[in-house]
Amino acid sequence: MKNKKSVIALIISAALIITIIFSAGYIVKEAEHDCTGHDCPICANIWTFVHRMQALGFFCAILLLALIGVYKHKFISLLRTEFEHGSTLVNLKIKLSC
Ligand SMILES: [Zn+2]
Repeated sequence: MKNKKSVIALIISAALIITIIFSAGYIVKEAEHDCTGHDCPICANIWTFVHRMQALGFFCAILLLALIGVYKHKFISLLRTEFEHGSTLVNLKIKLSC
């Protein structure tokens, strides 16, 4: 069951990444199109993509904050462990003078 969810998540992620890549390519290709002005369908497509990417970025920021909130104890303990037992120049016995 867990493996099946991973496969579905991988497929959805791949579809999202492919969509973003092709949309960005469309924008690059049509960046200097012969604009008809008001109600230009190409400009409408570009603005739709831009607004969806802004919404996706906002969603990712909220998701990141939520993940930090959920895992903050693990994150803090990881930082504390690295700070207390991490590699320092003194622990590694590195001499800075030549
Ligand atoms: Zn246009």
